[in-house]
Amino acid sequence: MFPFFSYFNFFFFFLALFLWRPCFTVTARIIPESVTVITTSQKHNATWHNFSSFLHAERGSHVSGMAELKKYFHRFGYLTQPNTTSNSNFTDKFDSNFESAVLLYQKQLGLPLTGKLDSETISTIESPRCGVSDTATRRIHTSRHFAYFNGKPRWLRGSPMTLSYAFSPYDMIDTLSLSDIRTVFERSFKRWASVIPVSFRETEKYQSADIRIGFYFGDHGDGEPFDGVLGVLAHAFSPQNGRFHLDAAENWAVDFDHDDSRIAVDLESVVTHEIGHVLGLGHSSIKEAVMYPNISPRKKKVDLKIDDVEGVQSLYGSNPNFSLSALLQSENSYNLAVRLETGFSKWIFSLAVTLFILFLST
Ligand SMILES: [Zn+2]
Ligand SMILES: [Zn+2]
Repeated sequence: MFPFFSYFNFFFFFLALFLWRPCFTVTARIIPESVTVITTSQKHNATWHNFSSFLHAERGSHVSGMAELKKYFHRFGYLTQPNTTSNSNFTDKFDSNFESAVLLYQKQLGLPLTGKLDSETISTIESPRCGVSDTATRRIHTSRHFAYFNGKPRWLRGSPMTLSYAFSPYDMIDTLSLSDIRTVFERSFKRWASVIPVSFRETEKYQSADIRIGFYFGDHGDGEPFDGVLGVLAHAFSPQNGRFHLDAAENWAVDFDHDDSRIAVDLESVVTHEIGHVLGLGHSSIKEAVMYPNISPRKKKVDLKIDDVEGVQSLYGSNPNFSLSALLQSENSYNLAVRLETGFSKWIFSLAVTLFILFLST
């Protein structure tokens, strides 16, 4: 048993530690993933940026230009068009129909269910994202957050399954070297291949490749035009289509240390996400998951989370060399560490405040 002074020393040691630390590093990790709102760039998607004028709008509000926001909700599958021949019939009124759409959006994106255009919802709407509709997919298990495309399509090949991929001979970008782009894709494919019994190999035969990759500007003939800098970043089609398109207008980056642009988007994060679609996964409502639809500029998110892994393994089974329990353990120990540090920080803080009050009262 420790004598009292040991506890006392222990307490003061941590109190000193608390006072010395300029801030709690853990705080940055436990705050919900912040979404960068770009406010100054002239080049980025102007329409989405204007959504900030709808902040705090709720049922009954009437804000000029809200019809544009309704088009956004329609674009990603949350609102049906009032007139099937034209989308000009959306009004600027925040009606109950729109409230339901906002609630559905908040549920899908893992946001607080307020039914209002609160700041977190507006920030998420304004952040760049994948062009694949959130509701073109369906959830199988209510306890899970991953989703599949309707009909649960998957690649059907003999075992062992190998899918080929090729870069377009014409539609690439010159702001990054082909060698950098190839390395990013190779790493991203390997990440998925490590959890399912599917491997990927690059081929030069673009036309006959299973997965065909290209960078395109604006309307590129598949009915899903890209929209310039930020906004929609990329999209990919469900199995066994194989089309994998990235917006050529983005400031794609492979290394943020060598690209200080505020609108730089991490190519590897987006590529890893789109491969999930190519394999048959829809969007997840878990913010940390690779299959979450939005990603901020200058954010890197390439590690598959348990939600991503469980989703893709339910389509293809597990790679015999992969251990889910190891991943589970690492995610759990991370979450536990965060919880412990958070709890400990709160405990220390309360103690420090109590001591301070005691000190003042003496
Ligand atoms: Zn997506
Ligand atoms: Zn496309």
